[in-house]
Amino acid sequence: MGYVLTQSGFSELVKSLESQYRIFAPVLKKGAGRHLDTDVVLYDFVKSAEEIELEHKSDYAFKEALLPMSETLFFFTEQQTKEADLDERPVLVFLRSCDLHALKRLDDIYLRNGKEIDPFYKRRRDLLHFVLIGCPHAFENCFCVDMGSNLTKDGYVFSIDSAEEGEDTVYRFEVPDASFNTFFEGAGGTKADVQHTYVTETKTRVRVPEEVPQAVMKDALWDEYTQRCIGCGRCNFVCPTCTCFTMQDVYYTDNGRVGERRRVEASCMVDGFTNVAGGGQYRKTKGERMRFKVLHKISDHKKRFGENMCVGCGRCDDVCPEYISYSHIINKVYDASEKVLQAKNAEGGEENE
Ligand code: SF4
Ligand code: SF4
Repeated sequence: MGYVLTQSGFSELVKSLESQYRIFAPVLKKGAGRHLDTDVVLYDFVKSAEEIELEHKSDYAFKEALLPMSETLFFFTEQQTKEADLDERPVLVFLRSCDLHALKRLDDIYLRNGKEIDPFYKRRRDLLHFVLIGCPHAFENCFCVDMGSNLTKDGYVFSIDSAEEGEDTVYRFEVPDASFNTFFEGAGGTKADVQHTYVTETKTRVRVPEEVPQAVMKDALWDEYTQRCIGCGRCNFVCPTCTCFTMQDVYYTDNGRVGERRRVEASCMVDGFTNVAGGGQYRKTKGERMRFKVLHKISDHKKRFGENMCVGCGRCDDVCPEYISYSHIINKVYDASEKVLQAKNAEGGEENE
C-alpha cells in the first residue's frame, strides 16, 4: 500500500505533516563543508519539502535527535535540581536503512544495557517516528550489505523515494502505518502499490570475522594507526552508533553554587578519553585506540547484544582527514584472525597425529 505524489503534492504533504510534527531531516548546507567551497549534509529541523536532502547521503547521522552534541540534563541550586525542559511535540526523522538499523544499537546501549534505562534518552526516544529514505544505489564507501543493514522491514511510518521522470520529479511512498494515509490523501496522493528501494550490492566489501582471537589484540596491524591517525575524533562524531559522552558541570559566575549539568559527546580516539585518577591513561597510542574502537564495533557489542555495532554506513571512511579506511581495517582484522585460527588448527592437527 502506498501513494505517488508530484513535486507540489510533496510540498503540501510536508506542510501538513509539519503542522503536527517537528521534522528532522538531512539538509544540504552550501559552502559549510570542511574545505573552502565544499558542502556538507547534516541534520536539522525543517519546515518545507524543499529543504530536505534526499539525493546525497548525509555526512552526519540522525543521532542528534536522541543524543545532542551538548545537552543540558538538569539545573541545580544548593538545595534543588530541576530537569531541563524538552519540546514535547512528536518528531518525524528522515533517515536511511543503515541509520534505522543504528537506532536498534542505540536502543540496546541506552535502554537494554542492564537494569536501568537512561531516562534522558528515553524521553527523546518516545517522541520519535521514522521516515525511511530509499536507497536506489549505494554511495561511495557504503558496505551495508555485508553488515546486513541494507534492508529494513519495519520501524518506519512511511518510506520515500524520488525519481526524475521527464521534466518532473515523482515521489513514491510506501505507507505501512495507515494512520498517515490522511496526510497523503490531503496532499492529492494517488494510491499505488509501492515498495521502497534498497541496495543489494556495494562496491566496498568487508569480511567480518566470526571470532577475533585474543592474539589479534597484539598484532602489528594496529601500529600503522599510531603513525597515521591524528586522534581528531571525526570518525566517532559522524558515526550513527558511537554513543560515548562526558559530563560537564557548569557553574554560573554570579553564584558559584548554582549551575547546570551537561552531557557532551565524547570520542574514544581523542587524547584524554581514558585518563583516570592519578595520571593513568589506559590507551595511550592511537593504534591502541583504533583497536578498541574497531573491536567494539565488530566483536564486543555482538558478544553482548547479538549483532555487530557497525552498520556499514561508511561515514567514518568519508570523513577521515588521514584517509584511514575503516573497511580496510575490518578486512585486515579478518585476515589476522584467520591466520591465528589456521595456526591453531594446524597445531591441533599435529598434536592429534
Ligand atoms: S563505524 Fe563507520 S561504517 Fe560503521 S557505523 Fe560507524 S561510521 Fe558507519
Ligand atoms: S577520523 Fe581518522 S584521523 Fe581522525 S581519529 Fe578517526 S581515524 Fe584518526
